[in-house]
Amino acid sequence: MERILVLGTGAGMSTNCYNACFLLENNGKYLLVDTGMGIGIIKQIKDIGVDITKIHDVFISHKHIDHLLGIFPLIRMVTSLMGAGVYEGKLHIYCDKEIKELVDNFFIPTSYPELIKMYHENIIFHDLHNNEKFNIIGYEIEAIDLYSTECNQFGFQTKLNNGKVLTFMGDVPCNDKLNDKIKGTDWVLHEVFCLESEEKKFKAREKFHSTVKDVAEKMEMLKVKNIVLWHTMDNNILQRKELYTKEAKEYFSGNAYIPNDLEIIEL
Ligand SMILES: [Zn+2]
Repeated sequence: MERILVLGTGAGMSTNCYNACFLLENNGKYLLVDTGMGIGIIKQIKDIGVDITKIHDVFISHKHIDHLLGIFPLIRMVTSLMGAGVYEGKLHIYCDKEIKELVDNFFIPTSYPELIKMYHENIIFHDLHNNEKFNIIGYEIEAIDLYSTECNQFGFQTKLNNGKVLTFMGDVPCNDKLNDKIKGTDWVLHEVFCLESEEKKFKAREKFHSTVKDVAEKMEMLKVKNIVLWHTMDNNILQRKELYTKEAKEYFSGNAYIPNDLEIIEL
């Protein structure tokens, strides 16, 4: 089974859903991509039916709080399960080197000695560099610099077992330097902040984000086949799927998915 298990779909200060993050599944192996803003990550993983002891790989796109903060409850839980002999093996975290420093500087001074011991022994950080390839959950995963102007930010691209190409684009609009990389991709996982009609109110572009129309037009131009849009405002969460899908379909001829938290998308 190759699937996306959607854990969260919201932008930074969402309270009606969890922050955008997901599990990429390859036949019972899981890559957690981003961690949201807190302890909710543990509940989302539980509620989607995945045993946390099965997660051994985490990819963090960038250091912003709504993507990073969930790593702390996750590490706290995993290191205590390691100490109890319940979690076997290591936890690998793929991120920019500045993120490792941030995690070290916060986790170590705020945790118990037994957990810190497990942290040093069993939490393995891997620096991300543009176009570097990693073997994770049975996929060759290529880190992609997303050319964010705010801080180092990485997405990734991988070929699935079914031959399809999947690209995760973090939480910034697709930079033109990536057009060739994205062109014709089967699956693009992309941020979207609000509807075009809400742009005056929410100012997505000023905040280095996109409207649904922006992403739909660009992905149409790049002949992408399926788009998954998340990292949205949570003002109208009950109608979000319907409204965003309608706008996406006006400009994009492939399949547009606007998932709610805890939805599962078959790849
Ligand atoms: Zn974000």
